[in-house]
Amino acid sequence: MSNPMLPEKILHYIGGKHLPSVDGATFEVAEPVTNRVYAQVAAGGPEDVDRAVEAATAAFETGPWPAMTARARARVLNRIADAIEARGEQIAAMETFDTGLPVTQARGQAARAAENFRFFADMAVTLHEDAFSSPAQLGYVLRKPRGVAGLITPWNTPFMLESWKLAPALAAGCTVVLKPAEWTPLSASLLPEIMAEAGVPDGVFNIVHGIGEVAGAALVMHPGAPLISFTGETTTGQTIMRSAATSLKGLSMELGGKSPCVIFADADLDLAVDSALFGVFSLNGERCTAGSRILAERTVYDSLVSRLGERAERIKVGDPSDPATEIGALVHPEHYDRVLSYVRLGVREGARLVTGGSRPAGLGAGNYLAATVFADVTPSMRIFQEEIFGPVVCVTPFDDEAEAVALANDTRYGLAAYLWTCDLRRAHRVAAAVEAGMTWVNSHNVRDLRTPFGGVKASGLGREGGQHSIDFYTESRIVHVALGDTHVPRFGA
Ligand code: NAD
Repeated sequence: MSNPMLPEKILHYIGGKHLPSVDGATFEVAEPVTNRVYAQVAAGGPEDVDRAVEAATAAFETGPWPAMTARARARVLNRIADAIEARGEQIAAMETFDTGLPVTQARGQAARAAENFRFFADMAVTLHEDAFSSPAQLGYVLRKPRGVAGLITPWNTPFMLESWKLAPALAAGCTVVLKPAEWTPLSASLLPEIMAEAGVPDGVFNIVHGIGEVAGAALVMHPGAPLISFTGETTTGQTIMRSAATSLKGLSMELGGKSPCVIFADADLDLAVDSALFGVFSLNGERCTAGSRILAERTVYDSLVSRLGERAERIKVGDPSDPATEIGALVHPEHYDRVLSYVRLGVREGARLVTGGSRPAGLGAGNYLAATVFADVTPSMRIFQEEIFGPVVCVTPFDDEAEAVALANDTRYGLAAYLWTCDLRRAHRVAAAVEAGMTWVNSHNVRDLRTPFGGVKASGLGREGGQHSIDFYTESRIVHVALGDTHVPRFGA
């Protein structure tokens, strides 16, 4: 392989060693600009998962990690952040190469990964345990790491999303087995050297690569991993919940979305247009919180549709490594075909294709799609209901607040919502009525890492972020201690 950024083989990382699969199996991984295969990746099976869970269990039961002081663990997490920052350009370049994300956006994601580790380093040292005292009894709560956490992650912004689970799991004192997405294993291959450089003991951090239905499924069913934190499609989440039932696991489910961006006529329309375009076309539209349904008040609907169309037409689609690119290549030909099939479906369903819908002229073999705007989309259309996960937005008019709320809630998903209005009372009313785990008012998707991240309805179960993540990776144990004379009912006396 001529490119020094690329390993020839991507192996598992188990107990501090880079290992092939026990049966030698591999799968091919390609990059989305040419769709050429660039590496062979170890294809994990149940035996590889066994080895990784054993290494993580040994590190949890007999290693120093869970017993370390919080401050010592925090120092390691900060060193992981340092190591990520030192490799920021390399991580961004790998992510751009492997996922097709525009490099300027991949840089932001690499910086956010470092921030995730710094944030949870701070949480580790401020974590407290409760006490409940009465004259007769003292109850105190011990907060213990729950053991081996299985982390299963998707292909969109893979490095950042891996860090979003790794940082709290490690801060809490858990040991982990990470199963990265099979389409985008490259950036995770940097994690072993980052962890080792930061002083993470062997066995605390393990990676098993592989196909979801094989390696992921084996991790979900493994009795040695009491926790699974999953981010991915809703249907995969449902399968995981079924398989995890036999071993009664703790589950965190961050699933799909079809989030509304509701624009009232009284909004700052310039800002609303900027935010609506960024909300659906950044990260190639391969974003769980994408505002992929724009609901516009009828009095401004026509002018908004033409503004959205004109601006979308000018969005620069192309080589993801070019800093001027705004939309890169979609991750995989299979996904590209799926997104294109939704474009054809939208046309068949009678939506009006305002712009986009095909490969922009002059681009080569990569998975390129122009920013696509459909107008006059109705709730009965599948493009209104289903997650497309690409640079495609549906625009729908509404007449009043009640209809806006009804349309916003008319899908099975409930991840995010974006509201644009200058009427303060209406903003609060609609924010309370919209079925979404996260709502932004007159703002785009800016996050405070302390706040709960997650969805309602088919968008997920549980929350990540701040204390919510720590609660997932730890368990509370109450100890009751008598302080005075103890009087016990004397059965059988
Ligand atoms: P996916 O569900 O296909 O795969 C996600 C991960 O699950 C991969 O690592 C895959 O190998 C694994 N997997 C697949 N089948 C499995 C099984 N039977 N058992 C165990 N593991 C299995 O999702 P994807 O296509 O990689 O990601 C896109 C989806 O992720 C979109 O729906 C998007 O909305 C969602 N997502 C949600 C959030 C969120 O925070 N809510 C964030 C990012 C992405």
